[in-house]
Amino acid sequence: MFPLARRCAGGYHERMADNRTIELGGRAVALVVRRSKRARRLALRIPGHDDSVELVLPMRAPEADGLAFLRSRSSWVLDRLDRLPPRVPFADGAELPLGGVPHRLRWHPGDGPPVAIDGHDILVAGRQEHMARRFRDWLHTEARRRITPLARDKAAMIAAPVTRITIRDQKSRWGSCAPGGRLSFNWRLVLAPPPVLDYVVAHEVAHLSEPNHSPAFWRLVDRLTEGRETGRDWLRRHGPQLHRYG
Ligand SMILES: [Zn+2]
Repeated sequence: MFPLARRCAGGYHERMADNRTIELGGRAVALVVRRSKRARRLALRIPGHDDSVELVLPMRAPEADGLAFLRSRSSWVLDRLDRLPPRVPFADGAELPLGGVPHRLRWHPGDGPPVAIDGHDILVAGRQEHMARRFRDWLHTEARRRITPLARDKAAMIAAPVTRITIRDQKSRWGSCAPGGRLSFNWRLVLAPPPVLDYVVAHEVAHLSEPNHSPAFWRLVDRLTEGRETGRDWLRRHGPQLHRYG
């Protein structure tokens, strides 16, 4: 798993979380309450992939304490939410990067392929109400098309078999790995510059042989990509923006 969890060989650890809405400063704010075995104190997070706030509770902390803590920090929360990059729905005229290169989405009714690239325009055919879904499906396919050969080539370099590649819409991860050579990647990586994608693929492939983020793991990543520093830095700075598309 990447980049939040420490271990990557144990499969998925779905978070125990529940979702609801809370009123803060007269605004309805989506709230995710999460119990954490690792947390030592109450904490608030703005994950940035949507407009929610996350309240992290140590296992034994009363939820009422957490909610009181959240209310006492409501102006901080609202300020952080207001600073999130704007959302960019997949609609006619939307600007978004493809492989890190700015493109403009155009609704293009008529004959032709469902999605076509014309210079820096992305033309989406069909009925307008299906445009967002059609383009999203295309991005999934495009992510798979770009990721699969990268993953297979890198896995071959270290003789580690890849048995399955899944493209997902993960909220907090760019990629993950599971026992048996199963890799998953976030479709949003197709929006990022190629060195970033290359780094994430190298990261997950390296986990096929090194489950933890040990020095040996990072040495292996460096054998598989030249983009480690660039990729990590880019994701730290621009990763939240990728979650604002679609
Ligand atoms: Zn990892």
